[in-house]
This record gives sequence, structure tokens and C-alpha cells, in this order.
Amino acid sequence: MINIKNLHKKFNDLEVLKGIDLTVDKGKTAVIIGPSGSGKTTLLRCLNLLEIPDRGTISLGENSIEFQEKKKLSSSEIISFRKQTGMVFQNYNLFPHYTALENVMEGQVTVLKKTKAEARTIAHRLLDKVGLKDKADMYPHQLSGGQQQRVGIARAMAMGPNVLLFDEPTSALDPELVGEVLKVMKELSEEGMTMVVVTHEMQFARDVADEVIFMDNGVVVERGTPDNVFNKTENQRTLQFLNKVG
Ligand code: ATP
Repeated sequence: MINIKNLHKKFNDLEVLKGIDLTVDKGKTAVIIGPSGSGKTTLLRCLNLLEIPDRGTISLGENSIEFQEKKKLSSSEIISFRKQTGMVFQNYNLFPHYTALENVMEGQVTVLKKTKAEARTIAHRLLDKVGLKDKADMYPHQLSGGQQQRVGIARAMAMGPNVLLFDEPTSALDPELVGEVLKVMKELSEEGMTMVVVTHEMQFARDVADEVIFMDNGVVVERGTPDNVFNKTENQRTLQFLNKVG
């Protein structure tokens, strides 16, 4: 489903991704962990072209792009690539002047060109799925952070993506609200959604990941099952990181 080869990305002189290779099979959940500044978010943003890589290849389903510095991508290339992914952001990024329902309808109508009636039906179903059936008419400021993030997940799913990308989806939340968001993510994972999750929630990585990817300083240092990475690793950098985060 996802195949990344030798991906490089610089911001000015700062080389943030230094040749990333990664595959995620259909239906699997990959959880990316690693110290602050290691390039996790940048890698995720490259996957839906919020950042354009300098070099390397990303294949997503049928679509494949080989990046080269100075090569300009066509907007149709970018759009067809983006349609494959749904992104869930750290700070939810909901439209403040739209209700929960309207937030979940918006992209369906403007990007996917669905009728409002169709979009509304799907939005109701997805809000129900994330446990927010009775909050459809609330505005973001009337919802808790956990509820807003669940709207964010419903909105990402409404685009019918092949892959869901989560960028530290719980790190802006009060601790007591983290569980309700992780529960929804766990359910999606169990239902066979293909997911790439950047998180500092080690317990989630242990419980839900099919594969844990440890990044440090722009490279994938180690990848494997949660058991291999958390319990059996002999890699010094992984051990150091795990000791720090507990
Ligand atoms: P964290 O866990 O703290 O979110 P991260 O592993 O997700 O960290 P990134 O957010 O990918 O790391 O950032 C990697 C490096 O790239 C950091 O040094 C960051 O300051 C830098 N960086 C990220 N985005 C930009 C940008 N748009 N312009 C310049 N530098 C950037």
C-alpha cells in the first residue's frame, strides 16, 4: 500500500529526512516513534505532500511519484495523490464557524463533489462511529478537545481515503481525554484501516501497532513488531530513547 524509497527532505541547510525507506502493507497500522526533531512529522507530511520531498520515491496504492529537486509536480498529480490519504492533525484544524456535521460534510461536497444530502448521510454515520451522534450540531468551541479530535477523525474518513495519517493526534489533549481518541483509533485499526501514526503514546504503540518504526535524526533506526522493538531490541539508540520515555 505504502512504499517509500530513499526519501530526502531539507529545510534550508537542515537535512531532516536522510534517506527513509519504509513500507506499510494494506490494512496494517504503523506507529512512528522517536525523539523530538527526528523528522517524524515531516515524514508524515511528505506522505500527503504537505511537504514536497527533495529526492526519493513514494508509492501510495496505484500512484507513484519520484521526486527530484527543482522538478515541479503538476496539480493533478498532487490532487490524485492527496485523495488517497486522510490526515488527522495535532490541533484538530476544524473550521470554527461550521458545526461538527458541517465539518465532516465540507470536503465531501467541495472536493469529492457529493451532493449535500449524500454528504450529510455519510457525516451522520461517521459521527455516530466516533461516538458523537448527539453532537452533530455543536460548534467546535462547544466540544471538548477529545470530541473535536474525534470530529477530525470522522472528517478524515469522510474523504474515503486508503490510508489515514495521524500526526500526534493526542498530544494537545488533557490526559483524561486521550483515551477516548485512542479508543477510536484502535477500533479503526482493528477494522483493517491502513494507518500511519506519529505518537508519543508508547502504550498505544505497544497495543495497536503491527509495526513500530523508531526514527532518530532523520533515519529509520529500527523497525519491527512492538515486542521486538520494546522488549527485545539491542540497538543502543532505541534503548536510550525507550529508557527516557519510560
Ligand atoms: P516532534 O516530536 O517534536 O514533533 P518530529 O520528530 O516530528 O518532532 P519534525 O517536526 O519532523 O520532527 O521536525 C524535524 C526538524 O525539522 C526540526 O528540527 C524542525 O525544526 C525542522 N522543521 C520542520 N518543519 C520545518 C519547516 N517548515 N521549516 C524549517 N524547519 C522545519
